[in-house]
Amino acid sequence: MPKVLLVEDDAVVRGALVRSLTQADHVVRAVGTALDALREVTADRPDLVILDLGLPDLDGADALRMLRGLCEVPVIVATARDDEAEIVKLLNAGADDYLTKPFSGEHLAARMSAVLRRAHPDGARQSAIEVGPLRVDLARREATLDGITLELSRREFDLLAYLAARPHRVVSRRELVEAVWRQPYIGGDQTIDVHLSWLRRKLGESAANPRFLHTVRGVGVKLVVPR
Ligand code: CA
Repeated sequence: MPKVLLVEDDAVVRGALVRSLTQADHVVRAVGTALDALREVTADRPDLVILDLGLPDLDGADALRMLRGLCEVPVIVATARDDEAEIVKLLNAGADDYLTKPFSGEHLAARMSAVLRRAHPDGARQSAIEVGPLRVDLARREATLDGITLELSRREFDLLAYLAARPHRVVSRRELVEAVWRQPYIGGDQTIDVHLSWLRRKLGESAANPRFLHTVRGVGVKLVVPR
């Protein structure tokens, strides 16, 4: 059972989340301040941290940085503000995912299992990812759309596989450069844009009429199940 540390100062929200996480078979510890969270992480490392950004003692970004300084535990941040600049800053500061309040226990549980899967790829190695009519076979490095094989370059495949493994999550450009290109991010996103546009063409879509690949201005790109 995954051990979860919930950092939330609002007692009502905290109580509700503890109940729903416990029902979903997680072992939950809950604290109300960033300093208590740092203490807990040092004492007994959790598998996942859910970090509310509006805490009474420390700014959320500072709390995240300090957590990151202690260990590589996956962190989902919960923010009340749907603020792109803030979200970019947090993803760049090492958050694994984010949720905008208010969110349901079910939504949180889905994000958590995705983050945990990524954090422990050996525990649940997936050989194929399916996103609607799109299927990405990681072992054979083959992608199909409606059963038809897509002719993808190595980089296009890697890009598609990376996004497909994180459906509905906005992946920042920095993360793509670092994870898919395996290069340090120095800004300048033309390489990503070019590959995305090739990939879009092969998926039969365009930036103006997206199906799977949606650009979130100023943040990054996400792959979704098309309607
Ligand atoms: Ca709060």
